[in-house]
Amino acid sequence: MNADVTLSIAIIGFGKIARDQHVPALRGDPRFRLVATVDPHASLDGVPAYRDVEALLAADTGVQAVAICTPPSVRIAAARPAIAAGLHVLLEKPPGETVEDVLDLERLADAAGVTLFTAWHSREAAAVDTARDWLAGRTIEAVRIAWKEDIRVWHPGQEWILERGGFGVFDPGINALSVLTHILPEAPVLVSAKLSVPRGRASPILAALELRSGNAPVSADFDFLHEGEQRWDIEVDTPDGMLRLSQGGATLSIADVPVPASPNREYPRLYARFADLIAARESDVDLSPLQLVTDALAIGEQVEAEPFAFERGTA
Ligand code: NAP
Repeated sequence: MNADVTLSIAIIGFGKIARDQHVPALRGDPRFRLVATVDPHASLDGVPAYRDVEALLAADTGVQAVAICTPPSVRIAAARPAIAAGLHVLLEKPPGETVEDVLDLERLADAAGVTLFTAWHSREAAAVDTARDWLAGRTIEAVRIAWKEDIRVWHPGQEWILERGGFGVFDPGINALSVLTHILPEAPVLVSAKLSVPRGRASPILAALELRSGNAPVSADFDFLHEGEQRWDIEVDTPDGMLRLSQGGATLSIADVPVPASPNREYPRLYARFADLIAARESDVDLSPLQLVTDALAIGEQVEAEPFAFERGTA
């Protein structure tokens, strides 16, 4: 694909993130043209809508790429026929339920000669690359993550998040891990995890992780019931002072001195990267954040928490 060629793309799973971020990013990028949506119920005025991937592929849309924004449990089933039909695929985070599922997709994409992109939007936050550059070559003494948000505010009615394959508090928490794995000089590994799962649900609503990066301890506190000031912070202690990424990576301070950052443009940057990958006939598949989460779900100590309902008083 030449840089000046427009690529026809469909969004599969037309929910909150598709409407809030993918549509504006696509409409702002001349390298893409949104030609269809795929969703059991939702659609966008003026854009052809299909109920499932098979209907999209059977129609004459000229589609060349898809962005898969469904809940993660159905992402792989949507991606396989798209790749088989020769489409380039962007996977929203988390890219699948298991690492093996996505590695299998990568093999299919390689064989089909199409681009597969595991999109980690938080890595595109404005201050993340600056943080990584500053940490490169420095000694890491300790890391603390606090990712605390109110599920009722950010995910109203999204029952799938607490179901099997929904990842629970790791749905936002994996964003922190995507930044962590991007900025630390040494890959973090999981040491232990404690998971609180509401009675009658399948996925955790709180998680406390202990990890290690080289010799440095890393703690992560993921809280989906946090009602006060919402926090998406990563603090890294170094001999040269503490680096603090906040607002999900949008702002940065080093030794308490704010570092100027450009405006946050996570999704425009993701689509620019997707277009570049397609033009270069390459894939970008990084599963390190998903591996940490599946490790935590596999070895974590599970405790039962109070039942949870989106509507208060109905659990
Ligand atoms: P959402 O609002 O629940 O939207 C998901 C949409 O996918 C729904 O319209 C759903 O339809 C549809 N869907 C379900 N199964 C499908 C299938 N087989 N084929 C096509 N469409 C299907 O969820 P969301 O918040 O947009 O999140 C979607 C993904 O984006 C998640 O992996 C999440 O982690 C990620 N993400 C979310 C945010 C955020 O702030 N919300 C931010 C970044 C990334 P039904 O409702 O009819 O089932």
